[in-house]
Amino acid sequence: MQIAQNSVVAFHYTLTNDAGEVLDSSEGRQPLTYLHGAGNIIPGLERQLEGRAAGDKLNVAVSPEEGYGEVQPQLVQEVPRDAFQGVDNVEPGMQFQADTQGGPLMVTVTKVENDTVTVDGNHPLAGQKLNFDVEITTVRAASEEEVQHGHVHGEGGVEH
Ligand code: ZN
Repeated sequence: MQIAQNSVVAFHYTLTNDAGEVLDSSEGRQPLTYLHGAGNIIPGLERQLEGRAAGDKLNVAVSPEEGYGEVQPQLVQEVPRDAFQGVDNVEPGMQFQADTQGGPLMVTVTKVENDTVTVDGNHPLAGQKLNFDVEITTVRAASEEEVQHGHVHGEGGVEH
C-alpha cells in the first residue's frame, strides 16, 4: 500500500543538520506515527513520503521553507528581568510560554545581561536545512474517525 491522503504511516527516522550532527532520532523508541495529508508533520517531509510504501528507506532533505521556517528576527526580543517573577534564576536555555498577540508562543532564553533577558520565539530548528534518514515501517488506511479528528488513534497516536 502506497502512502496517500489519509494513510496512517509509521516510520523510523534520524534527523541531522548539514554539519552531520544528529538533532533527533526515533532510535530506541516507537516509530513516529502520523496521518498523511493532515499537516501532522512538516510539509517537506510529508510531501516526499507521498507514494512510498512500508519497507522503503529514503533520505529526505527539507529546506527551511518546507521545514520550520526561516528565522524571524522580530521574534527575538529583550524583556526586563522583572517579567520573570517567581523564577529564581533565569538562565540561557530555559523555555517559557509567552502570551503574544498571535497567541501562546514557546520562547527560549538566549541571553541574560544585568536586568535584561533576551528571548527567542523562533523554533529551535528554524532556518536550518534538515536531513531525514527515513525507514517506513507500516502504512495502513485511516479509520473514518481518524480522518475526522485529523490524527492517528491507537498505537503511536492519540488515546481518547
Ligand atoms: Zn481523535
